[in-house]
Amino acid sequence: LGADDLIASDHARVTDPRRLRHLREVHRATVGDEMTLGIEGGVIGRGRLESIDAESAEFSLRLEHAPPPPLNVHLLLALPRPRMLARSLEHVTALGVKHITLLHTRRVEKSYWQSPELGAEKIRQHLILGLEQARDTIMPTVTQEKLFKPFVEDRLPDLMTPATRGIIAHPGMVNACPRAVSEPIMLAIGPEGGFVDYEVEQFLSAGFQGVHLGERILRVETAVTALLARLG
Ligand code: SAM
Repeated sequence: LGADDLIASDHARVTDPRRLRHLREVHRATVGDEMTLGIEGGVIGRGRLESIDAESAEFSLRLEHAPPPPLNVHLLLALPRPRMLARSLEHVTALGVKHITLLHTRRVEKSYWQSPELGAEKIRQHLILGLEQARDTIMPTVTQEKLFKPFVEDRLPDLMTPATRGIIAHPGMVNACPRAVSEPIMLAIGPEGGFVDYEVEQFLSAGFQGVHLGERILRVETAVTALLARLG
């Protein structure tokens, strides 16, 4: 639920049409049903549905516990085509990344930056779907970097702490992707056409380690999911 839905610490009112539709049509919720509710920004509660109609649903609420721990990952995702972006945002949010930077690289189609999928509200909807799936409530931050060189040369060094492990996923690298990394991670994933050599070199000279995921070349959304599952 949105923070606005929480009208007292023990009472929530849902009026968002999408959530109401989900309650009525997917859950077929009726008065007395108990369900787990996540409140954006932190807590999860046990809710009891007290009333529901086409306009609103009222819950009594007992706030219980914190959401699952995040993956300490900052994802640098070369902007994929809009439908792939939507699915990738959902998957990586469900897996728990903290920050997402959408990055321009040579093989990113310039027209993708004009996509309505990049509007703040659209992005938020995809993040919410991922959070709901994972019973999480903490939104990742999303930023957009439309210029590769200034980002890698000027912004990236500030984003990396001494403890950060930079990893760039690129087919053909010598090392396989490591498993269960405990340090904070900055993970770079290329666009559908992959990174060009110059971009790989830029990341490597910024201290990133190049890793592969085996001989199979995966689509962006599959690669990002596989990488996060290994690294987390
Ligand atoms: N032909 C492109 C290439 O050779 O780089 C394929 C790009 S792939 C569809 C999109 C992105 O997913 C890649 O840039 C990389 O970050 C990641 N990826 C996909 N398969 C991978 C693999 N086997 N090893 C490492 N990274 C991979």
